[in-house]
Parts: sequence; structure tokens; C-alpha cells
Amino acid sequence: PSRSLNSQSFTRENKAVRLFQHTMAAAILTSESTLKENLSLIVSQAKDWALTHGILMRTQHFPSSSDVVSYAPFALFPSVIPKSLFNEAKLIQTDFNLLLHKVAHDHDFLQKSLKSVIATDGFTQKLWDIYEAVYNNETKKYQPLCLGLFRSDYMLHFPQNDSVPSKVQLKQIEINTIASSFAGLAYNMVSLHRYTMSLLKLPFGEEQIPQNNCSEELSAGMVQAWDLYKKPEAAILFLISSEERNIFDQRWLEYGVFKCNPTIATLRLTFQDIHDLGHVDEDNNLIVSGYEIGVVYFRSGYSPCSYKTQQDWDTRKMIECSNAIKCPSVNYHLAGSKKIQQELSQPGVLEKFIPDPQKAQRLRKTFAKQYSLEMGLEGDEAIGEALKNINSFVLKPQREGGGNNFFGKELQSQLLKLKDSEERTSYILMERVFPSPQRNVLIQPGKSVRFDDVISELGIYGVIIGEAGQVHYNKETGHLVRTKTLETDEGGIAAGFAVLDSPYFN
Ligand code: ADP
Ligand code: MG
Ligand code: MG
Repeated sequence: PSRSLNSQSFTRENKAVRLFQHTMAAAILTSESTLKENLSLIVSQAKDWALTHGILMRTQHFPSSSDVVSYAPFALFPSVIPKSLFNEAKLIQTDFNLLLHKVAHDHDFLQKSLKSVIATDGFTQKLWDIYEAVYNNETKKYQPLCLGLFRSDYMLHFPQNDSVPSKVQLKQIEINTIASSFAGLAYNMVSLHRYTMSLLKLPFGEEQIPQNNCSEELSAGMVQAWDLYKKPEAAILFLISSEERNIFDQRWLEYGVFKCNPTIATLRLTFQDIHDLGHVDEDNNLIVSGYEIGVVYFRSGYSPCSYKTQQDWDTRKMIECSNAIKCPSVNYHLAGSKKIQQELSQPGVLEKFIPDPQKAQRLRKTFAKQYSLEMGLEGDEAIGEALKNINSFVLKPQREGGGNNFFGKELQSQLLKLKDSEERTSYILMERVFPSPQRNVLIQPGKSVRFDDVISELGIYGVIIGEAGQVHYNKETGHLVRTKTLETDEGGIAAGFAVLDSPYFN
């Protein structure tokens, strides 16, 4: 989907570019004409670097085969991110980890917040049913430890009518608690960008394109959880879909596990495979292909299309019931829903979970305005406001993975359709964030390359391992920058909207 920005936001954003773009971005801007002549050479050098260093994806045509593969889409240059905001995002990650951990262990809060969504959205209802069956029953026979590999995503917002660079704000777009992807490819973008900058003879210090250990750190998180399972023979199971274009991202995490501890077996299996090859034994252990599974890492299962039949749901439930440590457990999965994020943004709600007022304030500062679409006056008012200003809002269903939200004209028609039906309560409305555009070249297989106005989204990874009332491990674990053209509303690399990038400090 594309949008035409209204003239007001164009003027604002252009003004912001002038103020915001300093040395490196300006160097790219001014050398654009000379660069154009060398562009194809530099692009081919960059593509070969990506291919030789494992920044890879399977192709659209052969999504299940590693015989023909391609480089993963990437930006030719790093994107300017103010160091102070980058550090701020990193600093608050462990608090976000803890917040979601606490939310996930508060049954009443989950139930109250998700009530109307459960009633109107079949997917959330299925997750909820598993949650209730496993964690809210008499037997209490479940694995209390949860593993979270989270990623909190932000855009740098330029407040309307105010383009003083110091006023740029870090605004959270969402926080992911399931299948937070691309760490396996993102860590290498640092070296790729140091290479392309050098090819262009653009001077930079190494600290200006900061080191990123996201891949190793996420693997280390899995190994920490595996340690807590306390059985040296246990394996780690990567739960995948049958078509995995992003397999190499996952492989890097697998190799990271191997690097930490080469004795740990890793398996890659689908819901169907686990159904065919697995069972839960009399001691509640998950056994698959003869391996006892210590940790299940979900890289599938976050969208309705991951579940082809009821049997796949039954398999998810079987896994959830077992002693295996789930990444994520279904309560972590539910805590990551858009509805929970909207509820947390309401006055005083986040503060109940994070009693330290300074810490709570640091998190709250990153929240954009979010509105519930419950039936009633408040929901009606939010819808009315959004219909008046269709470019100032984003309409979000309870979905993950990119490509599900509504913007501009599509937001308008969807809201008109939903307005009078209960179904609207399964959506939330969010204030639209407008980052300042920069210039870059986005390299995507099969697409022509050119300089474009682009905007970026900064993700911070975090690992948490805990159970009700106790946290065993809580760490900020590196970053991801994804960049897309200014005209693109949606995000996501796997969904085809954005490309891999890395930050550059002026
Ligand atoms: P998903 O779970 O599908 O990734 P997101 O909430 O991250 O859902 O939305 C997908 C994309 O839509 C984001 O990557 C971003 O590009 C865009 N987006 C989402 N919310 C906003 C917002 N409030 N302002 C601007 N863009 C947004
Ligand atoms: Mg998401
Ligand atoms: Mg997202």
C-alpha cells in the first residue's frame, strides 16, 4: 500500500531533513550526483559482500529451497540515528522486558484487557483457550519458566509544528514477544556498512557504526534457558513453518547456540512434524524424534495462517502443557498483543507494574497515543477523530508480521465498515508517528536501485527468563534498524516492505 502525504507533512518533513541531516547523511546527499556514476559498481560490491557473509534469504520463487538463494534486502548506507536516543532505547529495554513479564503473569489484567478481543477475534481466542487450559487449572502441571526473546521497535518522531532537532522523540511502535526476527542478519550489517562507507571514502570512526552482538546474545539467552532446564541431553527445538524464506536468520541463531555449547542438539520442525514425531511422556516431558526437548523457540505460530488445521492448535497446546521451556510461553505471546500495549498506555496502568516512578516515566515517554475501540462514547470519539484525520492515525488488528495495519484511505474505509459492529473492539487506533526522511539506496532482489527518501525503525532486542514472582535473567541484547521508502506505510522485511540497515552516529 502507498500513501500520498498531505502537503503539510511534506513541508514539515523537508524542514526536518535540513535541520537533522548532518555530516554523513549530508555527504551522501552532496555526493549523490558523483555517486550515480559509480552506483552500480558499489551496489554489486555490496551485494557480493552480503552474499559472502551470510546476509541471505531464500527467494520468493523457491521459498523452501536452499539451492537458489539471494542476499537479504539491505540499505547501501547506514542511517543517522541520534546517539542519545539510541542509548535511551537500550537503557529502558530491561524495564520493558520486566513490564511484559509482569503483565504476562497477571491473569486478571490479561483477562480484563483482552476480554472484548477474545470475544471478537478468533485467533486471540484460540491463544486464550490454551492459556486458560494450561495455566489456570487445578493440576498446575506446567513449566513455570518462560523465555522471552523480545524486540521493542521505535520510530523517531518529529512533533507537528516543531522541527527543532533536539525535540526528536523516541516513540514505540510496538513490542514483539514472539519470533522477533532478523538478529541473525542484523549483526553483520555493521561490517557491511563499514565496508560501503570505506568504498565511498566517507570518513567515519568505528564507534559511529556501533557494534551489534544481537545474534550471539539471543543464542546465549536460549542456552541460559536450556541450562535452567538442567538436563544435559535435552535439545532445543526451533518451531518453523514449512516455507521458511528467512531460514538463514534462524540458522545464525542455531550456530550461536552451537558456539556457546556444541553438545546441545537443535531441531527444526513444523507443527505437523511435531505432531507426527512427538508426544508428552508420563513425566510431562516433550519427546520429539527421541529427543527430550528443553526449549521450544517459536519462529512460527504468530499468525492465523501458521495453523492449517485444528491439529496444529492441538500441537501448540501439547507443547504448552509440557515441561519444555517455551519461547514464548502463551502468556508472553498474549502480553505482546497490540491490545495490551494500548491498555498499558492508559493513564496509571503501566505504573501499576513498574512502581519506580522514574523508570515508569522513562517507558511512558516513549508511548504514542493509543485508543481503545470499545463500544461506547470513547470508542466513538476516537473513530470520529480518526475519520477526520485519516493520515494522523494507524488502525491495528491483533496481528503480527507486517502487512496487517490500515493507513490513510484504507483506514477510512475499514473504520466505516467496522464502526457499528462489535468487531471494532478487536482493533486499536494509534497516533501515527512521522520520522524524518533521509537519503539512501535500498537494495532489494529484482528491483532497480536508486536514491530514495527513506525512514527508519529502530528495534532493541531483549532477553528475559523468569517465572511468577522471580526473574532469573534480564538483559538488553543489541539492535536492529529497518528502513523503507517514505511512501511505504507498512513495515517488515519478511513482508517485503523494509530492508536491513544499521545506525550511524553523527
Ligand atoms: P507488526 O506486528 O505487524 O510488525 P507494527 O505495529 O509493527 O505491526 O506495524 C507494522 C508497521 O507499520 C511498522 O513497522 C511501521 O512501519 C508501521 N507503523 C505501525 N504503527 C505505526 C505508527 N504509529 N506510526 C507510523 N507507522 C506505524
Ligand atoms: Mg509485531
Ligand atoms: Mg512491527
